[in-house]
Amino acid sequence: MNTIVWLREDLRLFDNPALHYAASQGEVTPVYIFPEGLGGASYWWLHHSLTSLQVSLAEQGVRLILRTGEPSAVLAKLCQETRAASVVWNRVYSPEGIAAGTELKQNLTDADIASKSFNAQLLIEPTQILNKQGSPFKVFTPFWRHCLSQLDPTPLLDNPRFVKTSHSIKSESLNSWGLLPTSPDWSTGFDARWTPGEAGAQYKWQKFTENTISRYKDGRDIPIEENTSMLSPHLAFGEIGPKQLWFETHQAIASREIDSENGNKFLAEIGWREYSRYLLVHFPHIINQPFNSKFENFPWQDNPKLLAAWQQGQTGYPIVDAGMRELWATGYMHNRVRMITASFLTKHCLTHWTEGMAWFWDTLVDADIANNTASWQWVAGSGADASPYFRIFNPILQGDKFDKEGAYIRKWVPELAKLDNKYVNKPWEADPMSLQLAGITLGKDYPMPIVDHKEAREVALAAYKASKTV
Ligand SMILES: Cc1cc2nc3c(=O)[nH]c(=O)nc-3n(C[C@H](O)[C@H](O)[C@H](O)COP(=O)(O)OP(=O)(O)OC[C@H]3O[C@@H](n4cnc5c(N)ncnc54)[C@H](O)[C@@H]3O)c2cc1C
Repeated sequence: MNTIVWLREDLRLFDNPALHYAASQGEVTPVYIFPEGLGGASYWWLHHSLTSLQVSLAEQGVRLILRTGEPSAVLAKLCQETRAASVVWNRVYSPEGIAAGTELKQNLTDADIASKSFNAQLLIEPTQILNKQGSPFKVFTPFWRHCLSQLDPTPLLDNPRFVKTSHSIKSESLNSWGLLPTSPDWSTGFDARWTPGEAGAQYKWQKFTENTISRYKDGRDIPIEENTSMLSPHLAFGEIGPKQLWFETHQAIASREIDSENGNKFLAEIGWREYSRYLLVHFPHIINQPFNSKFENFPWQDNPKLLAAWQQGQTGYPIVDAGMRELWATGYMHNRVRMITASFLTKHCLTHWTEGMAWFWDTLVDADIANNTASWQWVAGSGADASPYFRIFNPILQGDKFDKEGAYIRKWVPELAKLDNKYVNKPWEADPMSLQLAGITLGKDYPMPIVDHKEAREVALAAYKASKTV
């Protein structure tokens, strides 16, 4: 019997319930359908991730079938071609992903083809977690406490053992999808930083648990040091699953291989990932509307010049520019700096968070609709559990605190490399001699600030006040 497995955000063999189930039934046809609407950096990642999956499957005599088109129609055609008796998949929790799964299930039922879906992406199904009143949680801490009380370390699923495929149906070629950038090729910095695919994910996870997790809690805010797992793109493409991270961290804490403070702090971040998806399932409008309706009348401003300066890392605030340039060069930005840059765009420039979200969507290799949406709304102040609006990040103090010696700034904004530590977060305050010694002419080699911090802060607070009274 042939079972079709529709792969989406689950590009792995280990602990992959849909693949595991299909393999236990007999012959398997795994299919990946071209995803519309990803950002450029994600397409780069996808190309390499699919290449890696093709190789792993081919080692067991199984071909990954690539097709383009509307999923229900593509899968119906494949059922005919392979004479498959069933289609299975792992669930995707975005509004689009849920709609596609629901439509497919209905069509398959109508066509008398069996179907089954699984959870490979979350620790717990969002619909299972409700408060005492039977409503969704709107605050992270009680949500996560409740999740932890429900979590059960179920064993992880081994790699499936496949039967060699007997049919020889057609697949599109990955190269014909043209996922890699050519002119210009902006991905050279990506190659140096990342190894997409399941093996790369497992390697990173192993290194993190062996070395890095022991300094996670205190180190995770220092952008120049690699003190976090760097697993986000691997998680976004499902090359590794959260159950493995939870299960193995939990075990390592119990056996005292890692201390509970660092281990639990890391698990809480996996909790934030879980919470972002949970919010999107229960409140799908948050993709483009504020979670907190008080922000419906917020007077966002349309200023293409400020937006372009932010995108290009030319705001005149070194920590902001360093972050934006790290993002462009590598497809990644450190979490602390994501918060600083997002706060700058939404509060200092009063630019709508959806503009920032769209830029991140295009440029991040870990672009993830749930994490991106929830995080942007959180920083903008309109999200679930967001910090109070008046806590506006000061980019100078943030830089002084988390990049004391300016090492992160010197790496990504090389024109400031020779500037004294005292001024590296505020070059406009440097005396002419210091600037000259560092070889900088402000306004020529490096921009003057595009907005004044104090003034921008006052304007943002006034806008917030006014929007509340509308
Ligand atoms: C404005 C903004 C936009 C963001 N956009 C994305 C995005 O598109 N995709 C994305 O994966 N993360 C996003 N994040 C969250 C976070 O910055 C990244 O997940 C993290 O920096 C990835 O590095 P890491 O894997 O080393 O994280 P670690 O610290 O090792 O954390 C482990 C995992 O936990 C999850 N995680 C960590 N922090 C958060 C968080 N705040 N919210 C939700 N999940 C989290 C991620 O899956 C991460 O890989 C965004 C944050 C901000 C402030």
